[in-house]
Amino acid sequence: MHSQSQLTSSFANRILAWFDAHGRKDLPWQQDKTPYSVWVSEIMLQQTQVKTVIPYYQKFMQRFVDILSLANAPQDEVLHHWTGLGYYARARNLQKAAQMIRDDFNGTFPAAIDDVISLPGIGRSTAGAVLSLACGQHHSILDGNVKRVLARYFAVDGWPGKKNIEQVLWQYADSLTPELRTGDYTQAMMDMGATICTRSKPKCDSCPLQTDCLAFAQGRQSELPSKKPKNTIPVRTTVMLIPMWQSQVLVYQRPPSGLWGGLWGFFETQALDLVGERAQQLMLGNYSTITLAPFRHTFSHFHLDIQPVILQLEKPIAHQVNENQQIWYDLMQPPNIGLAAPTKKLLSVCKTQL
Ligand code: SF4
Repeated sequence: MHSQSQLTSSFANRILAWFDAHGRKDLPWQQDKTPYSVWVSEIMLQQTQVKTVIPYYQKFMQRFVDILSLANAPQDEVLHHWTGLGYYARARNLQKAAQMIRDDFNGTFPAAIDDVISLPGIGRSTAGAVLSLACGQHHSILDGNVKRVLARYFAVDGWPGKKNIEQVLWQYADSLTPELRTGDYTQAMMDMGATICTRSKPKCDSCPLQTDCLAFAQGRQSELPSKKPKNTIPVRTTVMLIPMWQSQVLVYQRPPSGLWGGLWGFFETQALDLVGERAQQLMLGNYSTITLAPFRHTFSHFHLDIQPVILQLEKPIAHQVNENQQIWYDLMQPPNIGLAAPTKKLLSVCKTQL
């Protein structure tokens, strides 16, 4: 039986030795690391895979080179750079946090973990990751990858999203994180989870933890970490109106909070037989309709069944342009605005109608 300190150092040493030989060291955010660059990458990586994030990260950093340029940019432009990454609250929070750093921290990313956690969109794990990776501070992390490695290594039963299970995993994370080379250890644990101890078919034969991993010993890799208890999510429906005049499509900017907050999208109504009434409210004049194939967009807490309808206008309605947060989106010369995934998808369908 190992003592706790023996376990800690043997665990960390094996992880670091693995990192030295196999860890990722050439990712764009690993070059010229700053708290800002690591922070942006961590937020992008929260729900998205590394290879998807890389081009978004590079364009984002070219445009918003530092905290101040992000804080001072128009929100639309920030959302535009996020279009396609999803989970837009991340982008809005990133900018809100940059503005707080500008206003409350003299434009410098705070060095104290409690200050970092006080920023919107940054939890304990992300704060720990930024401060350990960019500043070498001693903090542990517990993102999805680390939760998976620890839940398997210690054979922790129970869904890690549950508070008490998460607490157990935090205790393990805290006890194992070394004082020295904390940043490398942080990166190594994330890499281990992403490349070795993967969700399905973990590569246990290449894993430095195999000799004393309990999930491996018990053959329980596929059942740990325990899955989220199933609950069915409700279905909502909506009809999206797509007024079209030649290559232009009418869109409006949604309110700053709520579903797709601040993004541009289509006007909606509850049912197909209400389309006429809604078109009248919008003063669209005469039109002919094309009913497109319905599709489902799934959020974490509900499904949204979308029925899109194109309204081919007989005449342009130029008087609405720029009024009430509306614009004519030109399919041939798309403007740089933030779009939700279904809006983007429908715009490409509209293009096929030209
Ligand atoms: S031995 Fe397998 S299950 Fe255990 S930590 Fe390594 S990869 Fe994960």
